[in-house]
Amino acid sequence: MKVHHLNCGTMLPPASPRMVAHCLLIETGGDLVLVDTGFAVGEDRLARGFTRMVRPTLDPAEAALNRIRELGLDPGDVRHIVLTHLDPDHAGGLRDFPRARVHLHAAELAAAVHPVTAGERRRYLPAQWAHHPDWMTYDDAGEELFGLRARPLEGVDGLALVPLAGHTRGHSGVAVDTGAGWLLHAGDAYYFHGEIGTPPRCPLMLRAAQRAVAVDHAQRLANLARLRELPSRVEVFSAHDALELARHQS
Ligand SMILES: [Zn+2]
Repeated sequence: MKVHHLNCGTMLPPASPRMVAHCLLIETGGDLVLVDTGFAVGEDRLARGFTRMVRPTLDPAEAALNRIRELGLDPGDVRHIVLTHLDPDHAGGLRDFPRARVHLHAAELAAAVHPVTAGERRRYLPAQWAHHPDWMTYDDAGEELFGLRARPLEGVDGLALVPLAGHTRGHSGVAVDTGAGWLLHAGDAYYFHGEIGTPPRCPLMLRAAQRAVAVDHAQRLANLARLRELPSRVEVFSAHDALELARHQS
């Protein structure tokens, strides 16, 4: 297994550190697996409120499709996509891989397809999956892994979905057994590396933003406490922290 750490969407939110869309491209057994997708090539469907809040640069060169080509690989070989959740900065690239099977938590797909609250109706962008992806959903059942619950993915060796609800209804992390160690893509369980440090710290704007968009703030904080307790052999990282991405790219 070979793992590439990619930035598939830079964002420049006001009064906050630069944010990335940290995605994984995994070469395994002749197939490519993408974890989160960032924004699509030529993304033009974002809501004005979202664009104002996160200020995405929408550079086509950063889109997963072009990042994969840049590596000399064929985007057509992406057979599986694993999503931490369906917010626009994570699911935008789905349409660039219309034949991939898309793995995610069942509660997340339910929230996006049948939003209950005004916040859920506002945050998701159904146009990003109007091509009817081949969804593969999972519930909370699973096995214990580092004090978390992990559900091995169907047909994708070495990867498991780790439910971490709070940011959204079905938000999940993605655990990867690389053979040389464990990675945990924690999605939007936190935005800033200092949040899992000792003592925890986070810029004010990012803290406020996370509280504002969480469907269950208390649950998010409980998950964060569990992430801080992970053994050091698990490399955990957020979807949006530029420093953590740089650490994995060096
Ligand atoms: Zn996000």
